[in-house]
Amino acid sequence: MARLDLDGNPIEPLTICMIGGGGFIGSHLCDKLAEESLHKVIVIDVSEEKIKHLLEASCPSSSRFEFHKINIKHDSRLESLIKTADLTINLAAICTPADYNKRPLDTIYSNFIDAIPVVKFCSEYKKRLIHFSTCEIYGKTVGSFLPKDHPLRQDPKFYVLKEDESPCVFGPIEKQRWSYACAKQMIERLIYAESHEHGLKFTIVRPFNWIGPRMDFIPGIDGPSEGVPRVLACFSNNLLRGEQLKLVDGGQSQRTFLYVKDAIEALLLMIENPSRANGHIFNVGNPDNEVTMKELAEMMVKVYPKVSGEPALEVPTIDVSSKDFYGEGYDDSDKRIPDMTIINKQLGWNPKTSLMDLLESTLAYQHQTYSKAMKEALSKPAC
Ligand code: NAD
Ligand code: UDP
Repeated sequence: MARLDLDGNPIEPLTICMIGGGGFIGSHLCDKLAEESLHKVIVIDVSEEKIKHLLEASCPSSSRFEFHKINIKHDSRLESLIKTADLTINLAAICTPADYNKRPLDTIYSNFIDAIPVVKFCSEYKKRLIHFSTCEIYGKTVGSFLPKDHPLRQDPKFYVLKEDESPCVFGPIEKQRWSYACAKQMIERLIYAESHEHGLKFTIVRPFNWIGPRMDFIPGIDGPSEGVPRVLACFSNNLLRGEQLKLVDGGQSQRTFLYVKDAIEALLLMIENPSRANGHIFNVGNPDNEVTMKELAEMMVKVYPKVSGEPALEVPTIDVSSKDFYGEGYDDSDKRIPDMTIINKQLGWNPKTSLMDLLESTLAYQHQTYSKAMKEALSKPAC
């Protein structure tokens, strides 16, 4: 039986060009498209490691997946692949905060300059674009500038982030942390202007800390030993090594975490309901899953022994300064609560998974995937 969109119309199979489809979010989206749709997917990435299971001939949907090992920085094949597709989804980015200070130029190029041709080709060939931006585009909350005990800090309008109302509040230029958010803002503005002046059909996605299996890498196991991934992988790495979880500046920053599998449901709705998704910017997050980084660490420390059988850490966390952890130029978003009105109204989507449930399944995955390799690495004498 044909699958129907939200308005009851049959969903026609599409050809989707997914740039950066070999990463964390891309790999989950590819799994979903393989399992539940008949869409054809052209994946562009510099690595296929996280989607190789879909490309093997034994995979029932492999004939619908094509992989092109292309760096979009310098490859003329990009244009013809976008031209071939009905829809382009651009996920490609440098999006690990440690890189925003260490590689600010790469960060700006990756999140702004390299994305320009994608927008231009979509506009020129009248192709629909779903572009991945970030919740970091909001920067710091307006409330964070009020005195600590000011009553207005409790008023949602000073901290809940709304797509069409909240300003983008970044720190000074020397705080290179904001290069990423600023580059993402420029590409959002370019997309919006292309739509306004040339009729580009677009959807912009602002993910609020999506987490789950396959996120980033574990340093020294499937990524560089000196690399610093995002917080889920940092804390997982600490747990796998049996070492204390590092709380940057005391772990007081707050985040709302969304299970990647919930997020993928929202993406499928955007892909298959263009008349409801086009022209919109969507916050995609879970306002109910808010914690400080200290609370997140405490939850992970509690869950890990349950799913791994490993002993609990006696002194589970240690405070580190952001300067020691990330280097000069680091700054932080204080709090990120998404307003969900627009996505709820347009697509009827709501997140489902609690933070505790998502941590249980994700840490079980981390243990199954990495503990053997980690034990081997730890048993080798240090050089
Ligand atoms: P990811 O790093 O796992 O995925 C990005 C992918 O893009 C990687 O596979 C990488 O190899 C590829 N890529 C980067 N530069 C490329 C290039 N020049 N040519 C070809 N491929 C290239 O990150 P992710 O978490 O899957 O994020 C995907 C998108 O979502 C990014 O745009 C990111 O900024 C945005 N985002 C994600 C989150 C989140 O919660 N995970 C939060 C905010 C924003
Ligand atoms: N963080 C931490 N310990 C770590 C890694 C990160 O306390 O080992 C903090 C970081 O300073 C930030 C939060 O966790 O306040 C989330 O960081 P992440 O890298 O996941 O990305 P962000 O949400 O800042 O984009």
